[in-house]
Amino acid sequence: MTGRVVPSNRFITAFKASIDGFMVVDPKGRIVDCNAALARLTGYDEAELTTIRIPDIEALDTAEEVAARIERMTVSGGERFASRIRRKDGTLIDVEVSVSLADGYFFTFVRDTTESKATLGALRESEAKYHALFETANDGIFLLSAEGYLDCNQKGAEMYGRSRESLLGCHPGELSPPRQPDGRLSLEVVAEKIAAVQRGETSCFEWQSLHADGTLFDVEVMLSYINFRGVPCTQAIVRDITERKRVAAELARSNAELEQFAYAASHDLQEPLRLVASYLQLLARSLGPRLQGDEQEYLNHAVEGAHRMQSLIRDLLKYARITRGSLSLVPTDSLEACDTALVNLAVPIQACGATILMAGESSTAYVPGQKLAPGAMPCVLADKTQLTRLFQNLIGNAIKYHDPARPPVVRLSARREGDVWRFAVADNGIGIEPRFFERIFQIFQRLHGKGQYEGTGIGLAMCKKIVEYHGGTIHVESTPGVGSTFWFDLKAVD
Ligand code: ADP
Repeated sequence: MTGRVVPSNRFITAFKASIDGFMVVDPKGRIVDCNAALARLTGYDEAELTTIRIPDIEALDTAEEVAARIERMTVSGGERFASRIRRKDGTLIDVEVSVSLADGYFFTFVRDTTESKATLGALRESEAKYHALFETANDGIFLLSAEGYLDCNQKGAEMYGRSRESLLGCHPGELSPPRQPDGRLSLEVVAEKIAAVQRGETSCFEWQSLHADGTLFDVEVMLSYINFRGVPCTQAIVRDITERKRVAAELARSNAELEQFAYAASHDLQEPLRLVASYLQLLARSLGPRLQGDEQEYLNHAVEGAHRMQSLIRDLLKYARITRGSLSLVPTDSLEACDTALVNLAVPIQACGATILMAGESSTAYVPGQKLAPGAMPCVLADKTQLTRLFQNLIGNAIKYHDPARPPVVRLSARREGDVWRFAVADNGIGIEPRFFERIFQIFQRLHGKGQYEGTGIGLAMCKKIVEYHGGTIHVESTPGVGSTFWFDLKAVD
C-alpha cells in the first residue's frame, strides 16, 4: 500500500457491489478504493488499482487535463462525461464516467459503453442504408395509416407530380380517378384492399392513378402490412407501368398483324397454287407420251413440288387460324377430347396395330370406336376443338414415329400438379435426340425427310401454340430407341 487514506463512508460497501466499475479517488487523482467490476473493466486487480493514478488509465485526457477536471469538480461537486480507459493489456474501451464529490473524495462510477456505442453505430449505419434505399428506389414507396399518407419517397411524389409535403395526410382516393377501368369505385376498392392487408394478406394488382396535371397513368401496386411505431399501417410499393403496358399493347398489335398476315398470305396463295398444280398435271397428261429423256422426270418433280407446297400452305393456314381470339376456354372434359382424337385416328391405329392405354388406376386398352371409361381423364379449362387437335397431333405422332421392331404402345395419363393437370402422351417409338428437343416445336422443323415419314413439320408447332394460348407449357422427354413422352399443363377446373 502507498499509505493512501481511505475514506470511511457507510455507502461505500453498497457502491462496491455495483455492476459498474466503482472507485474512490482522492483530490490528487489517486485511486484509494475500488470494486471488482472496475478490476474486470481495466484488467488490473484491485490491489494494483490502488497504486494507480487516474492519468495512468485515462486515455483521452492528459495529466494536466485530468488535474484541471479534478479542480473543476472540487467546485462543481461532480460531473458526468464520456471518456476512454486504457486497460492493462493496452487495449482501449469507451466508458461513461459519473463523479460526485463527498468529504473531499471523488466517488466515481465507470460504465463500459463500447458495446452500446457499437450498437448505436450499427443502428445509425443501417438506418442510413435503408434511408438511401428508400430515397433512391425506382418505385414509389408510401406509408399509409388511417389518417392518410405518413411518408413517401421522392420517386413516389414525382410519379404523381406532387411535392412530398402535399402528399402527407392525403388519402389514396385523392391519387385515383373516381372509377377504375372495370367501372368499380376507386374508394371502394381501396378500402377493400387495405382491409385485406390489415388482415395480414399481401396483394399485388394493377391500378389506374391520377397525376396532378389531371392525366391518368397505370401503376402496379404491392401492398403489405407494416407496424409503424405501434400504428397499424399499409406499405404501398408503386411502379409506373405505362411503358410496360404500351410495349405489351404494341406487341399484341404486331402479333395480331402477323397472324393476320400469315393467314392472308397462306389463304391467298392457295388459289394460284391450285392452278399451277392442276395445269402441271394437265400438261403431264397431254404431253406424257411425247416427253423424252429426263423431261418426264422434271415434270414429275414439278407436280410433286406443287403438291408439297399445297400441303405446306394448307397446314400453315391451319396454324394461322389458331388465334387467341378464336379460343373459347371453358370447362372441358379431356376424356371426350381424347375420345374424338382416337376415333379420328382409328385408321392409322388399326393399320399399325397400336395399343392405346389410359393410365388410371388400372390401365385400359382402347378399342377404336369404343367410348372411353369415365374418370380416366380430368376436366380442364380448354377449347374443346383445340384440345382434340392437341391429342390428335401427339397421339398421331406417337403412332407415326413407332419403332418397326416392336408393336406401338401409347400411354395417356394426367396427374394433378397444384392448380394444373399435367398430361402425358408416352410412346415406345424411335425416340428423339435431346439436341432436337427445342427444334421440333418450331414451325416446319422436321427430323426426317418426306421419303421416310409423311408430314410438313407443323404439328408440334401447332401443339405448342395451342398449349401456350391456354396459358400452359409443353415439353418432351425422350431416349432414342426407347420412346418419347410429350407432356403439357392445362388449368384444372375444380
Ligand atoms: P411432322 O410429324 O409433320 O414432321 P411435327 O411438328 O409433328 O411434324 O414433328 C416434328 C418432328 O418431331 C418430326 O418430324 C419428328 O422427327 C419428331 N417427332 C415428333 N413426334 C415424335 C415422336 N412421338 N417420336 C419421335 N419423333 C417425333
